[in-house]
Amino acid sequence: MSKTNQPNLAALRAEEPSLKSRYAAFQAAGLALDMTRGKPCAQQLDLSLDMLTVLTRDDYKAADGTDCRNYGGLDGLPEAKALFAEFLGVQKDEVIIGGNSSLALMHDTLARAMSHGVPGGAASWTSQAAAQGGKVKFICPAPGYDRHFALCEHFGIEMITVDLGESGLDIDAVERLVASDELIKGLWLVPKYGNPSGLIVSNEVIARLARMKCAAPDFRVYWDDAYTVHHLTDARPDQLNLQSACKAAGTDDRVLLFGSTSKISFSGSGIAVVGGSAANMAWYRGHLGFQTIGPDKLNQLRHLRFFKDMAGIEAHMKKHAAVIKPKFDAVASALKSQLEGVASWTTPTGGYFVSVDTPDGCAKRTVQLAKAAGVSLTGAGATFPYGKDPRDRNIRVAPTLPSLADIEKAMDVFCVCVKLAALEKSQ
Ligand code: PMP
Repeated sequence: MSKTNQPNLAALRAEEPSLKSRYAAFQAAGLALDMTRGKPCAQQLDLSLDMLTVLTRDDYKAADGTDCRNYGGLDGLPEAKALFAEFLGVQKDEVIIGGNSSLALMHDTLARAMSHGVPGGAASWTSQAAAQGGKVKFICPAPGYDRHFALCEHFGIEMITVDLGESGLDIDAVERLVASDELIKGLWLVPKYGNPSGLIVSNEVIARLARMKCAAPDFRVYWDDAYTVHHLTDARPDQLNLQSACKAAGTDDRVLLFGSTSKISFSGSGIAVVGGSAANMAWYRGHLGFQTIGPDKLNQLRHLRFFKDMAGIEAHMKKHAAVIKPKFDAVASALKSQLEGVASWTTPTGGYFVSVDTPDGCAKRTVQLAKAAGVSLTGAGATFPYGKDPRDRNIRVAPTLPSLADIEKAMDVFCVCVKLAALEKSQ
């Protein structure tokens, strides 16, 4: 994305009458289009329908004879752990299969760190902060995922914004910060096809995250690999695994990896996984034993029978790409034909979002105008800590849920609204 968008005002003013009449026509059309969240569409969910019948009456046992109908198997079926270790790029003893939501696993790891501490730490994060008269802090690359930021707010964790711009994560800033403050306990990052940036974290950044000197011995990178197999093209990023990089750097416990099949099988009825060093997994398992007597192993079995292996998951994701790539193309083509020189945007090769930067000071107004014309967008500011985009310019566009025809309509509305907001701003 370019640094600052400065539209040609003379050209915009010349277009103003037609923009206003198009906007009035949108308002009169009574549209109700939703591009707020990264939800799969029904056609994507249909791809996994056979999962509902893949288990027959007599098929409820795992390979080791575990009866999946009963309690137990706290950290996952062995064959599920083998598959999802490969999925996260870790060893079989470095993964735990959780419930149905990776966000829940992130929530739980944060809650436990706050209340009980993590391996390597002298005490719980909360009591360390109290002893030092400060607050637990997290580095929050932005634009980023709003629910990560919401979790920090929920736990009273102070957020320090670091730029995640067109040239990637500002790793110099991250290194400076983590070296200087023992209460900086974590960093959020979506390594592949970031939400909303679509960004692929570079191998140089990964190596530096593994190596950097942290003042806190109990610092953790929350590596939210939510879109690890969600490719839109045939290209496969050659990305280092942070866990392997940490092992090579002797910082084995530094990373917690998260993933899920929420946008592979069924959102809300998938499988969530957490990975990390043997010490981190032993810590996690210890806490988990208090929380549950065992996970939904029938769902694990269903996923195993349906996907079989990583090749099965990869093949399935190609079917998803075939459904949603035309939608991303429609977004890109609308932006290119209508907002060239006015806004800037990402062209992701995977994931669920397009990140658009309007001219400074125009994002909130764009979202308002779109809403009044029947198009709901993610709230402006949502992609920044505390909901505050300092330049009020970033908007996350989520193209997967609406139909192609609706996306084309919604993008026309969106582009007109960006231009109208830019015009108003210039008055
Ligand atoms: N992480 C990221 C980056 C996401 O975009 C999402 C879903 N929008 C999640 C986590 C939530 O995943 P889950 O359904 O596994 O809780």
